[in-house]
Amino acid sequence: MSATPYPASKARLVRNFGLWVIVLIASPIIVAPLTALGANQLLWVRTDSLQMNVLVLAGDIILLDLWTYWLHRAWHRVPVMWRFHKVHHFDEFLDSTSSFRFHLGEVAVSAALRLIPIAVLAIPFAHVIVFETVLLCAVIFHHSNLQLPERFENGLSRVMITPSIHWVHHHAVMRDTHSNYGAIFSVWDRLFHSQSKTKRTPKMKIGVESIEDKPFLGLILTPFMRSKQ
Ligand SMILES: [Zn+2]
Repeated sequence: MSATPYPASKARLVRNFGLWVIVLIASPIIVAPLTALGANQLLWVRTDSLQMNVLVLAGDIILLDLWTYWLHRAWHRVPVMWRFHKVHHFDEFLDSTSSFRFHLGEVAVSAALRLIPIAVLAIPFAHVIVFETVLLCAVIFHHSNLQLPERFENGLSRVMITPSIHWVHHHAVMRDTHSNYGAIFSVWDRLFHSQSKTKRTPKMKIGVESIEDKPFLGLILTPFMRSKQ
């Protein structure tokens, strides 16, 4: 197992951690209350047999991952949403710090929209917390620049989103950027025909086609600026 070497860029780390700090500060004010609100606004109440059961928990994780897949697809395909999500894609290298690089607008709207499946499916708060923990680990893993042994990664990629699959999602070619939307499980891209055929190579350019990364303030303002992509 190895990591792809890259020139260390202090400016890039400042951008990634700066966006993360904003989300971190805003989370107790916006994201956490929204999630708690969802847990209190369920449309129905599950019976005891549907409460804390491992199989039900697994089902909830799968359904929330399916929701996350479609939401990620919407962040790419709905123009006003892409304005926010492309802040994440402007990163010109990929490592686990990329997994914290999101515009606050995207994080807040995602948390608000997630109330829909939580309320409709009456997902217990504890299950949402477990899902969020699994999702965070998956996102850190698939943004990492780890190069796993090929046979191991091929096997794992049949079930999970691996670094190679997500690397292609960050390829600076729009056809690949708008593919491989999965977060935890890889089945959704196969099922809904959004899997890219491109294979990860060490030389492939990371970022958004024809657009360079921006300084910190430029990233904050990106959703409100005119852009060619
Ligand atoms: Zn994306």
